[in-house]
Parts: sequence; structure tokens; C-alpha cells
Amino acid sequence: MSEVIIRDDLEAMAESGLLSDYNRRRLTAARPTDGAMLALNINLTAICNLGCTYCFAKGGDYGRITGKLNEGADVESILQFVKQNAARGETVRFEFFGGEPMINFSTIEALCWRSEALGAEQGIRFLYRISTNLTMRLTERELELFARFRFTVSVSIDGSEATHDRNRPNKAGRGSFRAILDNCYKVRERSDDITLVARMTYVPHPDSSLVADVEALYAFNIFDWFQILPATVSRELVRTVFADAFGDLAYSEICRLCADKVDSEYKLLGEIYMLLFRPGNRFRGVLEIETVIRMLLEGEVANGHCSGGRNYFTFSPDHSIMPCHRLVGEAEFRVGAFGGTIDGEAVAPWRLGINDTPVCRDCAIRYICGGGCKQENFVATADINRPDPEKCRFQFRLVHCAIQAIAESDAAFRARRRGVLRDLFVSCGRPTLSSGRSEEVPAPDRLTHLIPLLHAFD
Ligand code: SF4
Ligand code: SF4
Repeated sequence: MSEVIIRDDLEAMAESGLLSDYNRRRLTAARPTDGAMLALNINLTAICNLGCTYCFAKGGDYGRITGKLNEGADVESILQFVKQNAARGETVRFEFFGGEPMINFSTIEALCWRSEALGAEQGIRFLYRISTNLTMRLTERELELFARFRFTVSVSIDGSEATHDRNRPNKAGRGSFRAILDNCYKVRERSDDITLVARMTYVPHPDSSLVADVEALYAFNIFDWFQILPATVSRELVRTVFADAFGDLAYSEICRLCADKVDSEYKLLGEIYMLLFRPGNRFRGVLEIETVIRMLLEGEVANGHCSGGRNYFTFSPDHSIMPCHRLVGEAEFRVGAFGGTIDGEAVAPWRLGINDTPVCRDCAIRYICGGGCKQENFVATADINRPDPEKCRFQFRLVHCAIQAIAESDAAFRARRRGVLRDLFVSCGRPTLSSGRSEEVPAPDRLTHLIPLLHAFD
């Protein structure tokens, strides 16, 4: 696309009033909690049976917590929180998490049945999602609950058998791929009411191929959606994750090479993305890319990168309430305790608007990205509201993939209904709002190349 054509398009948009401050005004008028449903991460147990190389939870207990949630008082406290914070007609999501949540299955059952009763009484709709390694034996008891409550089962599976087993061995060091795949087939065969998500963590080994790993899982034709995020590898885990793949290179140099590799692999994924929509395969998309596509096509603005500390809270066996599941046990981030209310002062930094956030307020994609993952920001810069440029690069790549897909797609693809993505907890429940611009300012006729970007501009 030549610069002249782009300039013509931009001039046409400016003349029609499209290059205005709609997004800014929309966010100024919004409350921090607008744009996403209440979502509760239920951290069921500190125990996990796998020993994944990149695990941020240090084997399930975050190195900081012990025990598990119980079916009695703990479940009651969580439901009490729902009663206090959700109104009739609203939707509330449970995200079953751990450790490995299936180890505490009876508490999952208790929450499902008792929330259903509460929903009938109070007019609240509940959604149920589990993040699981799916290695444990599945019986009719588990499968029936998944089907009965129309679970989204998000399975941690990283690609081909070789890739997965390198990243996600069990505690004895043996591969977990075969056991997981058998269970995925059981879930798939049990009911189409269960949404099966392949939750891939991409580890940028020098010899890895993200596209090959996506294709390996795609070929099984059992996953509805893919969710693919790059691993965050801390200094202390770099040897565990990469062994001697990078020789004696300094950590900073390894990070730079990894960021380059992540970017080039996602670029390749973007280039083949539309080829994944083949007849006969149940693949519906990559969640992060489809969400950005929806935001661009429907004119949405992000009211935060995620719902952490806004409408999303983690309930753990230490009876803390945290704004993010990755910060469990970090006392300085605690925002409440079971039986109590949310501390307004503690959540304030989590609710900072993008236009008030240094660095992000000047970023071209701020109304789509919403400011980056605050936990990753904190790891990189010691400030939850100051991003890591390498992570920003990934956000730009996602937007690029989405624009490329729109540009290469036909009208039927663009018209797909993507509202269901809101139920799938993409980007930890990114809150989005309609900017309202498309109703007020129609797109100028003479636009030729920037149509996909109409809603992304100021
Ligand atoms: S890409 Fe980076 S700078 Fe831009 S909004 Fe996201 S986190 Fe902020
Ligand atoms: S996006 Fe990051 S900060 Fe937000 S809830 Fe998820 S892990 Fe936590």
C-alpha cells in the first residue's frame, strides 16, 4: 500500500470527523468496572501434579501458599461475595484454577450446584470455565458436570508431543501429552455443549515452530478455539526452560533473542491464519486475534487491558482476595479477604485509565491493548502501570495479525458473530465498550485501504 493512498485515506477520515477524540471521551465517561462481567478466579488448591518448566506458580503453591479451598465456609464466602457484587440480570463467571483444580473436584461441584441455586433465586447467570492440565483420570462424574454446566475447558497443551513433553513433564519428568490427548477426546466425545480450548504457551526455543505446533493440534480436530500466549521466563527459570540452548549468553541477551523469535513466529502465524478456517475442521479462531478483530470491526475501545482489580478477583486457600491470579500470596497486592469487601485504595492502581498512564497514553494502539498485563509490567519494570517494550511489541503484533486477517478475509468472515468471545475470558476478561462512533459518523465513501482501522484511531 503506497504512502499516498494511506495519506488520502487519513485525509478522508479527518474531513469526515473520524479522527476525533471519541475513544478518549468514551473512556472518560466510563466507570472502571464498565465493559466486563464480574469474574472470580477460584484458586482451588496449591497442589499440582506437573512440573512445567516455565510455571509462574512454582509448582502450584506460588512458593507462598498451602492448602485448598473447602466445600463449606469457603464456598459460602465466595457466594456471599457474588451476592454483594452482582445484580439481577447480570452474568458472573467462575474460573476454576490452581495448582491443578481437578485435584479439588468436590469443591468445584459444590460451587456449580450452589451457584445454580443462587442464580435461580437472584436472577444471575453463571458461566463456568476451568484451566486444567487435564492429566487426571476422567470418569462420568467429571464429564457429566462439564456437560451439565456447559463448561469451557481450557486445556494447557503446548503443541506437538515433543514440544509439549519438553515444556510440561510430570513431577517424575515423564511426558504428559498422551494422557491429556486421551482426555481431550473423552471431553470432545461427551458433548458439544462443552467448549474445548487449546491453551498453548509458546516457548521460543531457537528450533521451535509455532505454526507447526498449531498445525499439530489443529489436525486432531477436537479444539474449538486456540489461546496462544508466549511464556514469560524469569531469570531464575531460564536454565530450566531452555537448558543450554543459549549457551553462556547473558539473561538480557536471551530475552532479546526470545522477543525476536516470538515476534517472527507470530508473524508467520498471522500469515497462515486465514488458511486455518478449512471446511470440516471445528477450529473457530485464536482467541486473542479474534478479539482484536471484533474490536476493530465493531468499534470497541478497551477499558483496561484485563479485568484484574476491576471486575476480576482471585480467591485463594490463604483466604486472600487478589486482583490477579499470578500474584497470589504477594501480600502487597492483596485487595481483600474472605467475608470482607474490596479495598478501594488497593485497587486504585489497577483501575488507572489509559489516558492517565505514562507511556501508554502516547501509544498508537492504546485503545485496543489497554495497557498490557500488569503482572508482566511489574516483573519487567517494578511498576504495574509501566510496560515492558518487548511485551508491547507482542501487542502490536497481535493487532497486525488482526488487520491482516481482516484485509485477507471475505464479507462472511467479517460478519461472523464474535459476541461469544466475551464468555471465553480472553485476555483475562478485557473490558471493552462501544465507542459509539460508527452510529454518529459514517465511514467516508472514498476510503480504500484503512477500513479495518476505522475504529482504532483517536
Ligand atoms: S502496547 Fe505497550 S505502550 Fe501500548 S498500550 Fe499496550 S502496554 Fe501500553
Ligand atoms: S492480564 Fe495479567 S495482570 Fe491482568 S489478570 Fe491476567 S495475568 Fe493478571
